[in-house]
Amino acid sequence: MVLDNLGSSLRGSLDKLQGKSRLDEDDVDEIVREIQRSLLSADVDVSLVMDLSSSIEDRALHEEPPGGTSARDHVLKIVYEELVDLIGESTDIPLEPQTILLAGLQGSGKTTTAAKMAWWFSTKGLRPAVIQTDTFRPGAYDQAKQMCEEAEVEFYGDPDEEDPVKIAREGMEATEDADIHIVDTAGRHALEEALIDEIEEIERQVNPDRSMLVLDAAIGQGAKDQAREFDDSIGIDGVVITKLDGTAKGGGALTAVNETDSSIGFLGTGETVQDIERFEPNGFISRLLG
Ligand code: GDP
Repeated sequence: MVLDNLGSSLRGSLDKLQGKSRLDEDDVDEIVREIQRSLLSADVDVSLVMDLSSSIEDRALHEEPPGGTSARDHVLKIVYEELVDLIGESTDIPLEPQTILLAGLQGSGKTTTAAKMAWWFSTKGLRPAVIQTDTFRPGAYDQAKQMCEEAEVEFYGDPDEEDPVKIAREGMEATEDADIHIVDTAGRHALEEALIDEIEEIERQVNPDRSMLVLDAAIGQGAKDQAREFDDSIGIDGVVITKLDGTAKGGGALTAVNETDSSIGFLGTGETVQDIERFEPNGFISRLLG
């Protein structure tokens, strides 16, 4: 079946359906409640959970299982389809020359993600370069430079320059031979006008093919405002969820996906440059429900 590693209580409720060919209201009720519990504890937004529950409930009670499908498999398929519908397939990242702009608050994992994505593109035979425009956070330049060395990818930054837009312009010129330009930007501790103004100027300068929002898996409900602000200013095409090697399940990122009408592109799973995966709905859904 499509979902592995389900949480034990949800699996228990599903297993009770073993051998049944039809679902009654109590069965559906129990399963929907287990799903709600899992999703809420994974930080998925309450209204998203409620919408999802009513679609699952409605379909499970009214759709006839296709011939030969057990009630258990039928409901599992509905749960999976509804979650995929909400989460979406992975953001399309064509393996061709492009410029990607990264946005997010300080500490979300942008700089780390820039180097990881560059490494990922290099494993696909492309030639990436990272341009570090974060002049706000002390240490961002050294960190990006060091990670790009580890990833063995080209790096551009200028520790003596204070104007991020100038760095972006000069960086694009200096790395013009690269196929992929990944432009890292400065975050702030909170959403501030200065941050939005700066990223809008950088966006105009580098004219990215896609802009991605980097979110810490532990973000929870805070994802909504960030997603809306960044989407209004530069347009968000995809989300990267970092720190999925920790205990947080990353459900808050779904709010961002929903808010920006985008999808998830990559997952960060550790501190080294190789700790990056392309998003894949099945594993993520199992984790949310686990
Ligand atoms: P920025 O301020 O958005 O550029 O964030 P950084 O890239 O500096 O990341 C902030 C901290 O999170 C650093 O200590 C990173 O090593 C750490 N970090 C980033 N991504 C991950 C991840 O996927 N897993 C873990 N465990 N740590 C991460």
